[in-house]
Amino acid sequence: RLDYRGVSENIVYKSTNALNRKAPLPLDGIQSVARAYTEFKSLSSTLNAQRNARSAVGERIRRSAQEKDSEAKDAAMAEAVKIKEEIARLEAALALVEENLLATALSIPNDTHPSSPLGPESAAVTLSTHGPDPIPPSPERDHVTIARKFGLLDFESGVTVTGSSWYYLLNEAALLELALTNYALSIAVKHGFTPVTTPDVVRADIASRCGFQPRDDSDPPVTQVYHVSSKSSDLILSATSEIPLGGMFANKIFPNTVLPLKVVGLGRAFRAEAGARGTDTRGLYRVHQFTKVELFSVTTQEGSEKMMEDMKLVQTTILNGLGLSFRVLDMPTEELGASAYRKYDMEAWMPGRGSWGEVSSLSNCTDYQARRLHIRYNTPSSTAPTTFAHTLNGTAAAIPRLIIALLENGATFDEHGELVGISLPEALRPFWIGGSERAII
Ligand code: AMP
Repeated sequence: RLDYRGVSENIVYKSTNALNRKAPLPLDGIQSVARAYTEFKSLSSTLNAQRNARSAVGERIRRSAQEKDSEAKDAAMAEAVKIKEEIARLEAALALVEENLLATALSIPNDTHPSSPLGPESAAVTLSTHGPDPIPPSPERDHVTIARKFGLLDFESGVTVTGSSWYYLLNEAALLELALTNYALSIAVKHGFTPVTTPDVVRADIASRCGFQPRDDSDPPVTQVYHVSSKSSDLILSATSEIPLGGMFANKIFPNTVLPLKVVGLGRAFRAEAGARGTDTRGLYRVHQFTKVELFSVTTQEGSEKMMEDMKLVQTTILNGLGLSFRVLDMPTEELGASAYRKYDMEAWMPGRGSWGEVSSLSNCTDYQARRLHIRYNTPSSTAPTTFAHTLNGTAAAIPRLIIALLENGATFDEHGELVGISLPEALRPFWIGGSERAII
């Protein structure tokens, strides 16, 4: 169900695109797909011809048997044996070509939106800025220092129980996680997204169909996912509920009239984060497990660009409601991964870290995931009865980084510069366990 023809007919674009995206593709990957597709088509048509010949010979056998012409019958049967052998040979050859074709074609990344900037992360283009002016960087606002002062975080027990970059949220931080989760869910639901709680353990195959690579063949292997150890299963811990949400729509054909479908998933995200180092690993910034509220949509092909803007509005509404300084970036080619056609990241100002930090991301995957997951819709007015849908995913809330931004921006100091509290956004009050009047740190 991959678009082999599209690859064969656009070799120059596909090759340039793969290079621009730094896709891990064999050097002549695109050409080899085109070559294998030509071979596939030629083998398929020879196979079809042989199958037709088999039917014709079958007919001759029947006719000669009726006419009691044993000579003609013997000749036809001998021919049938030869055709059968040839069909078996062609089927085996075709299966091999198809396997190779699929293996290479699966690593071809999605096409890229013409407006996406070219290059590495630094080439990102700021589309808009929101919220108050960023406050000056200040080490006193470091979220780990603030969290320790108010007894909000326990990394030591995380190390004892699991390992480094595993953590416990305590007291108001635990309530903050729940309030942020429900706040983000409530805004998504207001915008017409159906709430879903997802399985956090998924088949590796579903993850790779979504564009994640649970099997890494690099040497030494750099696995970014946790595998569930079991003799019989090929299960992994989900890196984002985008995976179970995408999988929920797999192998389905929708009437075009029900699209777009919009869901908001609540799940835990698990990330091995192999190779992460430096300031990024401090505190809650890059942890191995976190709660994530995720927007996911299945649309028509014509509807996905507008849906991207609609989902961006949900995300900016959530971040604006929290009073954060943030900016929306159009991400460049090298940051698009395998599946995104276009990607926006939202970065919030984190004065304790003294930098902008990504808190949210939004991807239009066009038909990349739908082709692999077999998500289609009916197209009554077109010549093709069904077509592949477009899928989009976006973060509504990734809790740890929101906590960082809220602590670092909300910290309050007395006239002696002593840290005395954290001012929390009004918008969270209705979601605070124990009543809105207790939503204070
Ligand atoms: P992604 O699914 O990788 O696009 O990430 C979505 C959001 O999750 C990011 O914008 C971050 O806010 C957050 N995030 C990603 N990885 C981590 C991590 N290891 N620890 C904490 N937050 C993360």
